[in-house]
Amino acid sequence: MTVSIALFTQDLRLHDNPVLHAARSAAEQVVPLFVLDPAVERAGFAAPNRQAFLADCLADLDASLRRTGSRLVVRRGEPAEQTARVAAEAGAATVHVAAGVSAFAQRREERLRRMFGDRLHVHDASLTVVPAGRITPAGRDHYAVFTPYHRAWQQTPRRTVLGAPRKIDTPDGIGSEELPPAGPLSPALSPALPPGGETAARRRWRRWDADRYAEVHDDLAADATSRLSPYLHFGCLSPTELVERALQHDGEGARAFVRQLTWRDFHHQVLAARPDAAHRDYRSRDDHWHQDEREAEAWRQGRTGYPIVDAGMRQLAEEGWMHNRARLLTAGFLAKCLYLDWRIGAAHFLALLVDGDVADNQLNWQWVAGTGTDTRPNRVVNPLRQAERYDPDGAYVRRWVPELAHLTGRAVHRPWPLAPDYPAPLVAPDALGSRFRRARGLD
Ligand code: FAD
Repeated sequence: MTVSIALFTQDLRLHDNPVLHAARSAAEQVVPLFVLDPAVERAGFAAPNRQAFLADCLADLDASLRRTGSRLVVRRGEPAEQTARVAAEAGAATVHVAAGVSAFAQRREERLRRMFGDRLHVHDASLTVVPAGRITPAGRDHYAVFTPYHRAWQQTPRRTVLGAPRKIDTPDGIGSEELPPAGPLSPALSPALPPGGETAARRRWRRWDADRYAEVHDDLAADATSRLSPYLHFGCLSPTELVERALQHDGEGARAFVRQLTWRDFHHQVLAARPDAAHRDYRSRDDHWHQDEREAEAWRQGRTGYPIVDAGMRQLAEEGWMHNRARLLTAGFLAKCLYLDWRIGAAHFLALLVDGDVADNQLNWQWVAGTGTDTRPNRVVNPLRQAERYDPDGAYVRRWVPELAHLTGRAVHRPWPLAPDYPAPLVAPDALGSRFRRARGLD
């Protein structure tokens, strides 16, 4: 019997999985393998919310594999070493894995390559729709501006969507560790996390309707975005399948949704080319960030005195997720109104976001802070004007800031004289952005 290994990473699904598909085509038997890597924990990336979500994903993947006659083999340790052990035990000739973009994923791939040479097959259109590096502007290794990237992306042929396998033959006798336990292990867990796994992902996707997306995706209280981001981060859904289905329906909503998925590809191709952008300014503006731990902590706690900012931060703590418009507002407030280092905010987001993703989080933060790919890096988003535009009746604020629930309508956005228990603003409304403008020499 010939055997191959399908090494799962951020592609925890059976539908439209090029790694699993190729592993099945390459051999009569397949070992579906997931390696729990302690280095992820050591690097501080294994936040409790994502650990809990991952446990659900692995349990669901194992259950789905069992329905095909297979099962998930879980090992703990350095991924290349563990894969080599399983390959030796199973007599596997080839190893299949999805291409990743982070420095971490690139190092893992190098180690696998050293171990397996040309027996390693890396599949590049799994994590994103258009593989990182597939399209580039003349003379450069990646796109630094979204609009031309989006145009080129739309012209790029996509691979065919693959079905979920019905039957997978797996060799007997390959030992597995226990699946990580599901459930609330840590007191730091957000109380209202979504369930992880491909089954929950497909259920959510089926129930969500993109028709009104273009109109309502910025309406904070409507909460009408797909909330598919954690499922995309862990690969419970294939972005290619999402795009193909959305474009079949066409319509303005579907096109707007696909555009957002293109942002995801965009950030991934930036990070693949510049892995150090996870920590270093993509475009340095010579910032000397203001330092004030008291302000940073007030921001983390959702006690800045700006209700719209505090609502977003409290949603993040409760759900491990935040609406995109609230992410833009809260991040803009930290980086441009308080002028605190974007890395402080990005680290807090990564500690809580169930969809926390190095490419999407760090590069969105850099975009907001004006050190990234924004073509207008010095714009300052005013949280009060944003609140009145994207939460015109104040319903989002009242949902998340209960001490202001007695205030009706848009008065909730400027509560200071009316709510003595609510904190005073960290920065006066007429001074929003002035630290930033002074520091960048704009005033
Ligand atoms: P929808 O509006 O339904 O969009 C569909 C999908 O498109 C999303 O699930 C996501 O995969 C993708 N998408 C949408 N907007 C963006 C964007 N600006 N950049 C990249 N992809 C996008 N997204 C993450 O997945 N992980 C993160 O860690 C993350 N951190 C962020 C930090 C900041 C400061 C900001 C401003 C944005 C961040 N985003 C991140 C992007 C975006 O806010 C979320 O993807 C989105 O809110 C998820 O909700 P949704 O699935 O309902 O999105």
